Amino acid sequence: MIEKTVVGGRPAFLITAILLVAGFLATSVASYLVSKETVRESLITSDLPLTSDNIYSEIQKDLIRPIFVSSVMASDTFLRDWVLDGENDPERMVKFLAEIQTRYDAVTSFFISERTRNYYHPKGIVQRVSADDPEDIWYFRVRGLTDPYEVNVDVDQANDRAWTIFINYRVLDYDGSFIGVTGVGLTVDAVQTLIRGYREKYQRNIYFLDIGGNLQSINAFGPATPEVGDMDGLETIRAQIIVGDNGTFEYCADGQTYLVNSRFIPELRWFLVVEQEMGREIRDIRNTLLLNLAVCLVITVAVLWGLRVTHGGYEKRLLEMATRDPLTRLLNRQTFEPVLAQALAQARRTNEPLTLILFDIDHFKQINDRLGHLHGDDVLREVAELARHSLRAADTLCRWGGEEFLVLLRDCDLESARAIGEKLRLAVATAEKIDSPVTISLGLAAWRTDEAGEALIARADEAMYRAKRNGRNRLEIG
Ligand code: GH3
Ligand code: MG
Ligand code: MG
Repeated sequence: MIEKTVVGGRPAFLITAILLVAGFLATSVASYLVSKETVRESLITSDLPLTSDNIYSEIQKDLIRPIFVSSVMASDTFLRDWVLDGENDPERMVKFLAEIQTRYDAVTSFFISERTRNYYHPKGIVQRVSADDPEDIWYFRVRGLTDPYEVNVDVDQANDRAWTIFINYRVLDYDGSFIGVTGVGLTVDAVQTLIRGYREKYQRNIYFLDIGGNLQSINAFGPATPEVGDMDGLETIRAQIIVGDNGTFEYCADGQTYLVNSRFIPELRWFLVVEQEMGREIRDIRNTLLLNLAVCLVITVAVLWGLRVTHGGYEKRLLEMATRDPLTRLLNRQTFEPVLAQALAQARRTNEPLTLILFDIDHFKQINDRLGHLHGDDVLREVAELARHSLRAADTLCRWGGEEFLVLLRDCDLESARAIGEKLRLAVATAEKIDSPVTISLGLAAWRTDEAGEALIARADEAMYRAKRNGRNRLEIG
C-alpha cells in the first residue's frame, strides 16, 4: 500500500519529462520553421528582385552613353556630307572614327556605307559587308529597322573577350533616306563591378540566358561562377524562365535549395537570372535552433532534477509519516504487525527461537500530572532512546500504544531475551538523563511453534501486567 503510493510518483515524473521535452521541441522547431520561411520569403520577394533591379538599372545607365554617342555620329553633318559627296578620301572618315573612339573611350567605332558597303573602322576600311556573309546579317537587320537603332551585345574578340555593347545606329540623309549604319562599342564596367560585388558579398549566382535559354558567356561579368556551368538545377527551370518576363523559381541540387529570380531585359533581349543558395541564411537560424535546444535541454534537466529532489524528499517524508511514530521515531503499531508476521513465518521456516518483550512505563500518569505533558513526552523519547541502545541491530522496537513498547527479538531464546530485558530495565531505572525516577515493567513471551502473533502478544501483555501487580520495575515471563 505504502510502496504503491510512493512508486506512483514515477509516471508523473516521466509525464513531466515528456511534456517538457515535447513542449520545448515543438516551440523550437516551430520558430525555426517560421524563421526559415521568413528568410525564404524575404529572399524571393525582396532581396533577389532588388539585386535584379539594381543590375538592370546599371545596364540601362551604361546604355545611355553609347546610344547618345551613336546618335551624335548618325546626325553628324561631316559624316553625312562626306557620304553624300561620294566617300572621297576615306582617310577623313577613318580619322573621324578614330577621334570618336578616343574621345568617348570606346572599344570600337564604325560606319558602314549603304552605297559602297564599305566597313569603315578607326584602323581603316576593314572589309565590305555582304548579304551572303552570315556575320554581316546584323547590317541588313539594322537596314530594315523601323527604330532608329538597335543594341547588340557581344563579346569583343579583339578586346580580351570583354562584354561589349554595340549600338547600331541608322544614318539618314537630309531627305530621310537610309545611307548607312554607324555606332560605337563600349564595355560596361559599372555592371561588371556591381555583379562582382553581389557574387562575392552574397554568394549569388548572376547570369544571363538568351531568349532561347542558352547560357551567355559566363566570363562576361567578371570571375566565372563554376556552379553556373554544371548546374543541373538550371535545366529544371530553364524552360520556365524563358516563357515569362519575370519569374520566381526554386530548385534543389546537391541537397541545397536554390531560390531564383529572373527578368527579361528588352534592351539586350536577354534574361537576367539571379539565384542564391539558402544555406548561408539558414545556417544562422539553424545555429539559433541548436542553441535553443541546448537551453531547453538544460532547463529540462534542471526542472527534472529539482522535481526529483523535492519529490524524493516528499516521498521520504510520506514514508516516514506512514510508518513511524512522530514522537519517538520508532515503528508504529501498523507497521510492526506485518513485520511480526514476517518474522514468525521465518521462525517457522528456520525453527529459530523468537521472543517478544512488551514493556510499559510505571506510573506514567503521575509523571504527566506532576511534571506536565511535555515533560512526559520527553520521558517517552528518552525511554525509546534507551531501548534502542539496549537492543541488537536485528531486533525491532515499536511504540505499541501510549507508553507501551514492543520488542521483537529474532533468533533469541528465553534466557538471552531475559538478559536483554533486564539490561533494558536497569538502563531505564538508572538513566541519568531522566531527572525524576522512571521505571518500566516488562512482560516476556517466547514464541511457541504455530502460535499466532496475537496470542504471543497477549501472553507478553499478561506477563507485563503480572510484573505491574508484583510491584513494577521488574520482568515477568509469560
Ligand atoms: P501504570 O504504572 O499502571 O502503567 O500506571 P500509568 O500511570 O502508566 O497508567 P496508565 O497506563 O493508565 O497511564 C498511561 C498514561 O500515559 C495515560 C496517558 O495520558 C499517558 N499518555 C499516553 N500517551 C502519551 C503521550 O504520547 N504523551 C504523554 N505525555 N502522555 C501520554
Ligand atoms: Mg504505565
Ligand atoms: Mg499503560
